Amino acid sequence: MTDLLDERCVQVLLPMSAGALYDYRVPPEMDLHLGQFVEVPLGPRQVVGVVWKENVTPSVAQDRLKSVLNILPCPALPSASLRFVDWVANYTVQRPGRVLRMCMSIPDALYPKAPKKGFRHTGKMPEKLTAARSRVLAVLEGGVARTAAEISELAGTSSSVLKGLESQQVLESVALPADAPIPEPDPNAGGFDLSELQQEAAVTLCAPVSQQIFSVSLLDGVTGSGKTEVYFEAIAECLSQGRQALVLLPEIALSSQWLSRFEQRFGVKPVEWHSDLGQGTRRKNWRAVIEGKAKVVVGARSALFLPFKNLGLVVVDEEHEASFKQDEGVPYNARDMAVVRGSLGKFPVILASATPSLETLVNAHSGKYTHVKLPSRFGGAVLPDVEIVDLKLHRPGSQRWISEPLQKAVDDVLVKKQQAMLFLNRRGYAPLTLCDACGHRLQCPHCSAWLVEHRLLRKLQCHHCGFSTGTPKACPDCEETGSFKACGPGIERLTEEAGLLFPDAKIAMIASDTLTSPSAAAEFVRAMTSGEIDILIGTQIVAKGYHFPNLTLVGVVDADLGLAGGDLRASERTFQLLSQVAGRAGRAEQRGKVLLQSHMPEHPVIEALAKQDTAAFMESERLAREEALMPPYGRLASLILSSTDAESVLSCCKELSRGAPYGDNFMIMGPAPAPLSMIRGRHRYRFLLKTAKDVNLQSVIRAWLKGKKIPSNTRLQVDVDPYNFL
Ligand code: ADP
Ligand code: ZN
Repeated sequence: MTDLLDERCVQVLLPMSAGALYDYRVPPEMDLHLGQFVEVPLGPRQVVGVVWKENVTPSVAQDRLKSVLNILPCPALPSASLRFVDWVANYTVQRPGRVLRMCMSIPDALYPKAPKKGFRHTGKMPEKLTAARSRVLAVLEGGVARTAAEISELAGTSSSVLKGLESQQVLESVALPADAPIPEPDPNAGGFDLSELQQEAAVTLCAPVSQQIFSVSLLDGVTGSGKTEVYFEAIAECLSQGRQALVLLPEIALSSQWLSRFEQRFGVKPVEWHSDLGQGTRRKNWRAVIEGKAKVVVGARSALFLPFKNLGLVVVDEEHEASFKQDEGVPYNARDMAVVRGSLGKFPVILASATPSLETLVNAHSGKYTHVKLPSRFGGAVLPDVEIVDLKLHRPGSQRWISEPLQKAVDDVLVKKQQAMLFLNRRGYAPLTLCDACGHRLQCPHCSAWLVEHRLLRKLQCHHCGFSTGTPKACPDCEETGSFKACGPGIERLTEEAGLLFPDAKIAMIASDTLTSPSAAAEFVRAMTSGEIDILIGTQIVAKGYHFPNLTLVGVVDADLGLAGGDLRASERTFQLLSQVAGRAGRAEQRGKVLLQSHMPEHPVIEALAKQDTAAFMESERLAREEALMPPYGRLASLILSSTDAESVLSCCKELSRGAPYGDNFMIMGPAPAPLSMIRGRHRYRFLLKTAKDVNLQSVIRAWLKGKKIPSNTRLQVDVDPYNFL
């Protein structure tokens, strides 16, 4: 009989949506610790979870308490990761199990891969040395061990030759590691001599890395100032400390230039983490991270939830990017959570950008973050001239979008054998197709959005749900045939126009749907660098990060795009995006030029861009937010209710409205149909909660939702610090 007093009990967190903490008994012979991955019974099933709390008093009767079945052969989740999960769950008002699931996205990785069988020469010689046998011994010379497949390939022999040699004890079988080892980056492999300013910045960034303390630095430098080279120094310092480093990039799958620069600096490629990797690679990389063998990881936002054994630095490059915010699943902002991760793990965080977000700038100005500035381009390259083309004065003509001044500027560049880029942040041929006879607009059947024509694919597509269809023969409304008319330009249409205006130029069009893989991105970089492209026409995918020395002209076809709409960050984002685009021009010896086509040249964003006065623009944005008590001077959360059943959404809205809390320092707006009132056939209503800065917004939400029943056909998404207001 076991002594009840000696019985240990732990709480295990399960990586599930409904995941709560469950109590389990620890068998007396089991050596169980915090963070370990364990198998436990759950109803009739066996599931994997993580030991979350030790020595708890069980909440169920002893006789109903089940036992932990076994410990998985995987290092434990480090305690900083455990605290991070709890912190993120609390902040985003999500169940911890959902957050834990993001840390254990590769269930296979919890089990080490079985070693491979290999063969080694024992030193003994075979009784009869045939030609095949001597070829086998030749490829195993020097005591190397190889798998049967490798030997067969190298020696050109069949497996029966190996069997024969093994039976004569000429070969012995050995266990080989399942995965090839991860190559270690060398902090001293390469690198440039830094300029004095860069050197100073690097010293500031390295200090907290070597002291192993938490701090946040904003690396604020104009495009082309060498921010990447500078934060590479901090990574090198982190490697010298024997700790792991993580770099978050907004478009990791397409960052081939970044990867090759890393390789030049550190001699090897970093470990990657993003959704384009195959399952096998993800398994291997996850395991390498928790075992501490992956020294530098570069990844998309989800990499923040990897189980680092000994993380010593996080760099968030292009920290202002909205793509660090996840709207689906657990909504979180990886930039903000990186700062949290640093404070929990006691290591520094570097936020890098040429156009820092307002939130980050405010923290830098208040002294909460260290402000490291690189105000000039490296190597004397100067920032481009920016000119506004007033479209009211220079109308491009019917169904045309390139004005005369822009056309002339492109012609000049072509004569000089330099490159030009035309930027338009709109995929496809035309954003709207309507019937010329009755005015009917082609709309997605599942979303409250127009269908976008993609002429190259001969399709109309919905950019919200992916629905696609051929162009109907007749108008669905008035049944007129041949009456459809494309309205407005997308980059396909712009490419058509450029082909007419610049018939001898080599034109390439790049968008997220044409540049879908890292190899396609690498090929694009090669073609652009080797001068196989004269005019590049692209969306935001070509706006960032790329360095093309011969690109001297950037034409922004519609600088006003993005300024409209109810998004609190519309101006800020447009400013950042267009600054990034402008930053592609003239990055080497030749001075660059940027032309902004606009219908409202007097708009503060357009004016600030022309003057390149980032500070003044951000200050006016800051004042506006301060006045309206919007983030970072107030706090926001959105609650979106959605269902395919309109009735259910409305009755849920009523229920939530009825129970909405009151308070002096917060207000609840809505419910109102979301701007995109239908997506994928789901009706969407939104509440917006706005509080003063010092209010615990999460507890307001929890109190509000407490005891409310949301029917199973309706989804409630709580989004703290929303970025997407659609
Ligand atoms: P940013 O990230 O600020 O836009 P990058 O780090 O991409 O700037 O640097 C711009 C270009 O200048 C890159 O091609 C980079 O290799 C080069 N560069 C930056 N610093 C140096 C340096 N100290 N020596 C030589 N080349 C440098
Ligand atoms: Zn749709």
